[in-house]
Amino acid sequence: MIDFSYFSDLSQQKAKAFNQEKNYIKRVLSGKDVNCRQCDKLLNIQFLNDGTQLQLQCKNGCTDIILDLDGPS
Ligand SMILES: [Zn+2]
Repeated sequence: MIDFSYFSDLSQQKAKAFNQEKNYIKRVLSGKDVNCRQCDKLLNIQFLNDGTQLQLQCKNGCTDIILDLDGPS
């Protein structure tokens, strides 16, 4: 028998992490200062590829997120 409860646990954790990520990025996009969740240093935000991508990076490199933006607004 396969224990399916293991899988549902996993996807719940994934969904939670995804929501946390979304909130985190929302804060950045609304212009708030956001610190790295690991080293607590202020994140550096820059636009890439003519503003179609947003990069969040901390000095130590533990946060390095690249986001695709929905075209020019
Ligand atoms: Zn960091």
